[in-house]
Amino acid sequence: MDLGIRGRRALVSAASKGLGRGCAGALAAAGVDLVICARGAEALEATAEDLRRSYGVKVTAVQADVTLEADRARVLEAAAGVDILVTNAGGPPPGLWNDWSREDFLKALDANMLTPIAFMQALVPGMAQRGWGRVVNITSASVRAPIDVLGLSNTARTGLTGFVAGTARQVARQGVVINNLLPGIHATDRAVSLDQGAAKARGITPEEARQARAASIPAGRYGTAEEFGATCAFLCSEHAGFIIGQNILLDGGATNLTL
Ligand code: NAP
Repeated sequence: MDLGIRGRRALVSAASKGLGRGCAGALAAAGVDLVICARGAEALEATAEDLRRSYGVKVTAVQADVTLEADRARVLEAAAGVDILVTNAGGPPPGLWNDWSREDFLKALDANMLTPIAFMQALVPGMAQRGWGRVVNITSASVRAPIDVLGLSNTARTGLTGFVAGTARQVARQGVVINNLLPGIHATDRAVSLDQGAAKARGITPEEARQARAASIPAGRYGTAEEFGATCAFLCSEHAGFIIGQNILLDGGATNLTL
């Protein structure tokens, strides 16, 4: 399917690895020029070069921590006038509900709620003025059903979801389409570190933890960054103009819901 976005420009934040990289790759495959960022320069430059070589698109790599205002300003300078925004950042650490201090909550809110909101506030007005835009926020299945060890994620991402629910409906008339994409368990570095946490808590090996977590998913496996990226690219496509303010769960059936 032609996604109809060849020649458009996108910012994908936190995109040197994992799901962000999957989204950047699928957009590049659709002919979209990219601005990508991450904190680690080496992986970021390697990803940028790989995307340029594989798809022949322009890729600007900005080394930045998206939770820091000054770094975000440099990313936004490189991304001025983009048509597509995919927001992403690292996830908060696991723990139990009464483990966290005010400082821990502020960090999670900064990374997983206030940073994507700041990106939208900076870039959506230009999209609305030009009459076309797409935003996908990478959130988590934790907004549909809480994950017991990820209370910081449950909290911060639900706040972002509320912001998007209201905002998406206010800018849809100007051609700006905002949705959230909710990963379940996908095979990335983040999943490996959560496997290790589960292994430690249960006194089993990380491989046993992975097998147990995969067995809990109706699809019988972890998702891939590539299939996540393909769904993201569709939500950024010309065909997604009537999908407004939705939370698309991509979890292999793991969240046991009727609706
Ligand atoms: P990942 O494999 O650990 O990759 C994270 C990417 O984000 C890396 O490129 C990392 O590069 C970059 N990054 C992290 N913090 C950043 C920051 N402050 N500023 C700029 N770049 C940053 O993680 P993932 O699995 O792709 O997960 C992406 C998001 O989806 C996370 O928020 C995660 O919690 C959420 N999620 C993932 C899953 C899953 O199963 N994978 C499930 C539910 C939710 P640097 O470290 O070099 O900055």
